[in-house]
Amino acid sequence: MFLKKIEMIGFKSFADRTKIQFDQGITAIVGPNGSGKSNVTESLRWALGEQSAKSLRGAKMPDIIFAGTQNRKALNFAEVIVTFDNEDKYLNSEKEVSITRRLYRNGDSEFLINGKKVRLKDVHDLFTDTGLGRDSFSIISQGKIESIFNSKPEERRAIFEEAAGVLKYKGRKKETESKLNGTQENIDRLDDILYELN
Ligand code: ATP
Repeated sequence: MFLKKIEMIGFKSFADRTKIQFDQGITAIVGPNGSGKSNVTESLRWALGEQSAKSLRGAKMPDIIFAGTQNRKALNFAEVIVTFDNEDKYLNSEKEVSITRRLYRNGDSEFLINGKKVRLKDVHDLFTDTGLGRDSFSIISQGKIESIFNSKPEERRAIFEEAAGVLKYKGRKKETESKLNGTQENIDRLDDILYELN
């Protein structure tokens, strides 16, 4: 599995539709300060489900939409499509996997996997434990190394759990526990009703 393509429109400084194709191996993106290099990696993180506007250097999520320049009007919509080569079937059974994320200035947003509308959770589930999950360290942005050193031991442990592939199971355990709790509450309520009836 490898990142093949990023396409974006209206994402941060990329007002026009922009397509970046990657080959296997190392790709370096170079350019003057402020030309949008970090915006490229942020577009990838955003498409993969980043929920924190702050970690994308904004105050609120719509800040990622092209805000306009002196000569150009702001846009009301941003879209990023990232495509992975999945010939090795690493992510799922498809040969190619594309994730689309869209956001409108009024706050409406959507995710698509291979053109089909999905929930954010589906995107997270697809990438958990692949090395590209939300807690993974495949994408190290400026300042991240310092924050890893300054993080609490439990937070640092999550890095190893993601790398070892156990995070997915921890997530599922939490979901199941909450379902079990809900069921136990229903049983308790039922017991109360039966008691009153007897
Ligand atoms: P450096 O080398 O200094 O780290 P860089 O090449 O990584 O810079 P970025 O930080 O990716 O550059 O890009 C910053 C540019 O993106 C700034 O010019 C900023 O005005 C622009 N930008 C960020 N958000 C938006 C937005 N919503 N609308 C328009 N432009 C934006």
